[in-house]
Amino acid sequence: MNRVVIIGAGSVGATTAYALLISGTAAEIVLINRNRQLAEGQVHDLKDAALFAHTTRIVVGDFSDCQSADVIIITAGVHQTPGIRSRLDDLREGAGILRDIVLEIARHDPRGVLLVASNPVDVLTYAAWKWSGLPSSRVIGSGTSLDTSRFRRRLGERYAVAAENVHAYIIGEHGDSQVPVLSSAHIAGMSLEKFCCGQGVPYDVVALHAIAQETRSAGLQIQRAKGATYYGIGAALTRIAGAILRDENVVLTVSSLAPESLGLGAVCLSLPSVINREGVSRVLRISLNENEQQALQTSAEILQQHLALAGISERAAAGEERCLNT
Ligand code: NAD
Repeated sequence: MNRVVIIGAGSVGATTAYALLISGTAAEIVLINRNRQLAEGQVHDLKDAALFAHTTRIVVGDFSDCQSADVIIITAGVHQTPGIRSRLDDLREGAGILRDIVLEIARHDPRGVLLVASNPVDVLTYAAWKWSGLPSSRVIGSGTSLDTSRFRRRLGERYAVAAENVHAYIIGEHGDSQVPVLSSAHIAGMSLEKFCCGQGVPYDVVALHAIAQETRSAGLQIQRAKGATYYGIGAALTRIAGAILRDENVVLTVSSLAPESLGLGAVCLSLPSVINREGVSRVLRISLNENEQQALQTSAEILQQHLALAGISERAAAGEERCLNT
């Protein structure tokens, strides 16, 4: 039986549970929340949808349920409040919440894959790997899976092609330093440039950079309009969980420990990765031009600074606060 535990039953956790239910991805969904009453309310609401969807067992649980879970999704965290609290406060509070949760999970010797969505997701994925003691392949962050989908959708709209036929990745940090990889983007087997040439439309680099910038700020725009984002991430988490449960070997941009051979240091960030029952079975070496390689290096350095600030890596945090407040 495919069992998914979701820790954190707020907007992201509940929406993920709903997406898992509607898609029939999990046979059992267990919700855990610090405020148990909230988890109970979410479970009753979800059960009301079950008859119209799939036969899925949905229950409120506790950390002992993590032992037999195939996927444990962590969505507990700091409420999304753009511009109200500093990113440093969010970083430290998020790390504190995650630490308690991961230590509790680890106590129950989990057999499945940890999937982190809480922000800052790359920093917290690294922390979850360190604190859980699990192999790095079994600790994944949702990373830029959502940004990649936003990017593909926008490119598809520009060229009037379905997003599923647009192959383009956002890699690096799920955040401001994310890297759009345009050099290897393609549609129907053709590079963007060749595709444009064949269609008689201009290959407009300025417009492509504007699409990359819109992708970067998309989450913030949604937060400003409605206070939080949850449908996109709920669907992305469901896609990743499904790939694990169905042993798919699908390629997704998720966050995981960067392979040493890439020389990016000890950080978790997103690269195209093969996802199956083991978690991240392989991180793929993507071809990048010089600017993209440099941008990926910068993204990794920023993440190292954030890890130091949160007291998660050994690197001294002194003098590095400014990078969070710019
Ligand atoms: P929310 O405030 O609606 O829900 C968070 C829930 O976590 C709350 O119900 C709270 O009670 C619970 N919680 C806090 N500490 C807990 C603990 N120790 N154990 C169990 N439950 C605990 O917030 P949200 O909108 O659902 O966002 C949750 C997280 O997801 C945030 O960190 C947010 O930034 C992140 N997020 C990530 C992405 C992404 O792309 N990775 C997208 C959207 C949101």
